[in-house]
Amino acid sequence: MPDHDSILAITNAIRDGEQSAVEVMSDCLGRIKSSDQTLGCFRETYEERALGLARMIDDRLAKGDDPGPLSGIPIAVKDNMVTDFGRSSAGSRMLEDYHSPFTATAIEKLELAGAIVVGKTHCDEFAMGSSTENCSLGTTKNPWDTRCVPGGSSGGSAAAVASQLVPAALGSDTGGSIRQPASFCGIVGLKPSYGRISRSGLIAFGSSLDQIGPMTKRVEDAALLLQTMAGKDRRDSTCADVHVPNCLEKLDEPLKDLKLGVPKDVINEHNDDLVNTIIQEAIDVYRDLGAEIVEIDLPLAKYAVAIYYVISAAEASGNLARYDGIRYGHRADLKPGEDLFDLYAKSRSEGFGDEVKRRIMLGTFVLSSGYYDAYYKRALQARRLIKQEFDQVFETCHAILGPTAPTPAFPMDEMQDPLSMYLCDVYTTLANIGGHCGISIPAGFAQREGRRLPVGLQLQGKGFDEARLLRIARMFEMATSHHDQSPELITTNKS
Ligand code: GLN
Repeated sequence: MPDHDSILAITNAIRDGEQSAVEVMSDCLGRIKSSDQTLGCFRETYEERALGLARMIDDRLAKGDDPGPLSGIPIAVKDNMVTDFGRSSAGSRMLEDYHSPFTATAIEKLELAGAIVVGKTHCDEFAMGSSTENCSLGTTKNPWDTRCVPGGSSGGSAAAVASQLVPAALGSDTGGSIRQPASFCGIVGLKPSYGRISRSGLIAFGSSLDQIGPMTKRVEDAALLLQTMAGKDRRDSTCADVHVPNCLEKLDEPLKDLKLGVPKDVINEHNDDLVNTIIQEAIDVYRDLGAEIVEIDLPLAKYAVAIYYVISAAEASGNLARYDGIRYGHRADLKPGEDLFDLYAKSRSEGFGDEVKRRIMLGTFVLSSGYYDAYYKRALQARRLIKQEFDQVFETCHAILGPTAPTPAFPMDEMQDPLSMYLCDVYTTLANIGGHCGISIPAGFAQREGRRLPVGLQLQGKGFDEARLLRIARMFEMATSHHDQSPELITTNKS
């Protein structure tokens, strides 16, 4: 029996005939059935389709065919990516029964390589949030402590991988939504460089920031998924036509003269003490591995959250204009005498949740005449300066090391004030603003009040330098054992 958690182990077992794809898929669906009532990772599953595809993989293998490097791997997909089967709802009532006529390119590429989508996972509505509590269609719990949030917005995907319901999942990251839940759930989460993976079929939030990326237990699995999904796509003109390296093959090549940049205020009083300790230990691990630690300065980094919330809200207000109850989305019932304007207003009032409405209002405000120059234009200017700052820093080091989030997972319902929730993104939004890549990997555990909660380490790399970033992440993974730990499997006894 292969591990439940490594893609390579599972697909090799299927290819070598140790286990059939149908057996792997049935096990996976069984685990979801027994645990997901408690965890709430999945919005829906596609049992019949998944087993049918698994059978096809087995038939092809029996005939001597090669169904691809991901043969028979069950994959969960965040609910904001569309598929031409099942529903794609972005965690919103607005799209509660939306059936897409096409499938996202990233998902299509994974399935062409032999992977099988098992289901969609809960996320904050339209990917706006950091706890998955803004989801209108369900609530996900952190498998390490079900009183806590899994992070967000890709919380369902992170919790599903952490609890070994699936070996891998897709998330999307506009300001940290892959890396922060990966940190909270103790898994690997990679935000690729902007343009690395097609956004076709990703329900848009902030189009200049959004990227799809892998969430896995191991760095090598993230490498394999990344290289499978990456590459130019004629359905997304912002998807870059740049060489896709074989990240997996290069993963263990030694890195000579590795220089890691550490921001001079990386350990600070805004972080949880335990996060500070774990980051200091991570720096020591790299130093012991022979890396040179260079102190860096990113004076504009303190503006990241402000810039991010102006730009992402502005883009969201435009992207969400299509949900008017006519072209897309929930349509309200009208009373006699109500007109088209009432239809728009009622449909949008009923379909969107509070956080989405807040962003639409903020976005519309910063784009309105009189405020455009003061907020939106300034945010764009500041964004360019931040990008320049990163370009300069990446000339002095190969990657930047720091925390993924200032705290471990927090209790559900604790974060009532939206602004406090926005501050969870202080370290992650930078990579989206700059367009470069970032990864969160398990770096230790915080013990508090009898709770044992994972803490992630964030590494940021130059744009399109994922192959090296993954190697640097892998060094840490090989030197530590945090990734080997999993929460106890939660099962619901239904007999
Ligand atoms: N937490 C951030 C927000 O609420 C990031 C979301 C994301 O990356 N999708 O906007």
